[in-house]
Amino acid sequence: MSHQPSSGKRTCMQMLQDMLDGEATPEQQDEFKDHMYGCMPCYQKYNLEMVIKDLLKSKCCGQGAPPELIAQIKAKIEQKNVL
Ligand SMILES: [Zn+2]
Repeated sequence: MSHQPSSGKRTCMQMLQDMLDGEATPEQQDEFKDHMYGCMPCYQKYNLEMVIKDLLKSKCCGQGAPPELIAQIKAKIEQKNVL
């Protein structure tokens, strides 16, 4: 909680981080969801994290998500981001 700008727009990275940490207020969640549909990198990154969370969850249930698979998915999405 050190240096948060008190006004102005937050960056994509900050919004994403708060969402993924579960620290976003309901207002910020709405803001991010609106933003996400107009911002491909955020949309992809957010969905990527959700996919990974799901994979890790299913691992807890004994199904196992191989790290290579996660790396593959990540690589694919990051490739798209570069283009
Ligand atoms: Zn964005």
